[in-house]
Amino acid sequence: MTASSSLKSEVGIHLEGITKTFGEVVAVDDVDIVIREGEFFSLLGPSGCGKTTSLRMIAGFEVPDTGRVLLRDKDVSGDLPSKRNVNMVFQHYALFPHMNVEDNVMFGLRVSGVRKKERVTRVAEILEIVRLPGYQKRKPWQLSGGQQQRVALARALVNRPSALLLDEPLGALDVKLRREMQLELKAIQHELGTTFVYVTHDQEEALTMSDRIAVMNLGRVEQTGTPREIYEHPESSFVAGFIGSLNAMDLTVEQRPEGIGVMSVGEGRVMARVGASVHVGTAVRAAVRPERVALGPSSAPVHPDGSVVFGTVQEVIYLGAVSLFHLDIPGLGQLVSQRMSHEQESAFQTGDPVSASWEPAHTLVLEANPE
Ligand code: ATP
Repeated sequence: MTASSSLKSEVGIHLEGITKTFGEVVAVDDVDIVIREGEFFSLLGPSGCGKTTSLRMIAGFEVPDTGRVLLRDKDVSGDLPSKRNVNMVFQHYALFPHMNVEDNVMFGLRVSGVRKKERVTRVAEILEIVRLPGYQKRKPWQLSGGQQQRVALARALVNRPSALLLDEPLGALDVKLRREMQLELKAIQHELGTTFVYVTHDQEEALTMSDRIAVMNLGRVEQTGTPREIYEHPESSFVAGFIGSLNAMDLTVEQRPEGIGVMSVGEGRVMARVGASVHVGTAVRAAVRPERVALGPSSAPVHPDGSVVFGTVQEVIYLGAVSLFHLDIPGLGQLVSQRMSHEQESAFQTGDPVSASWEPAHTLVLEANPE
């Protein structure tokens, strides 16, 4: 068992009923987030939704108007940042340019009075962990952007904080390096078992790295869950639209046999699992992910349990491993199907009549408004 998975039942950080305003702007609005010890937890959302403000309140750089910040069950709401045993890593990792890597990393240890011999050992250990062994004597200008960010990480981790707070730390790196660093950050976190709280507006980044994610919008938490829960069972239109792409469909339930809502679309129909509040006549906003939509000839037999709609291929976009098929579905509008480019279904071309089908479990019901 790894350090991180063995610790996950304890609460590491609790933002309890937090609100923070700046003048007229409610930056964080009654947020309650529980982050487990040893967890890789991401705050994800669009620009201005309150992610950085939430992180800064954990660090102590901002003070909440209402609510409490608890670190390992201790109320630290009134404590200075230096008393909180958490460290922060920023997108712009200001390393001291005149100091070599070793001096940069050991700076905090020196300030807190750790003796020279131990400082040197701890720096060597942490450089090993961030995959920069033997880099002690290099100056920052002799390092790549990714290596500089690892030094910043080592500097933030060397004094063994109870949590590391990361504010878009990979934002300045190019896409390829960013992908590599995402995996490395996750591996480092796993190895150390330190709680990481990671701010990003990049959904793919959050899905790649996180144990759990809080999706924020307009200062509030819309949903908290594992990447899979959030992707496959979004609880709101906002979450569904923000994470991954989506075909949204506004339809009315016409039949409702045993927990399945049936909504007709031309000659076809959409089927979805529905809750008790959905009746015949209820207007629902349903959705399906493009990768769930299979393509077949328009003459294909209709499976009795699944959704199937009929239309024509409007456009095919080849993206290498996958292709996107934009379909025109009379009575519905546009529907996108994503298929692996090597699959037989990918042979369909612009103008072909097709059927598009998917299972009831893959229809997401995002909103339901009973008549
Ligand atoms: P981004 O991804 O763009 O950094 P964010 O989700 O981190 O956005 P915050 O930086 O937390 O968002 O900002 C939330 C809201 O609070 C925004 O409307 C922002 O303009 C406002 N805000 C943040 N800090 C201050 C401040 N010091 N003074 C005034 N308004 C602020």
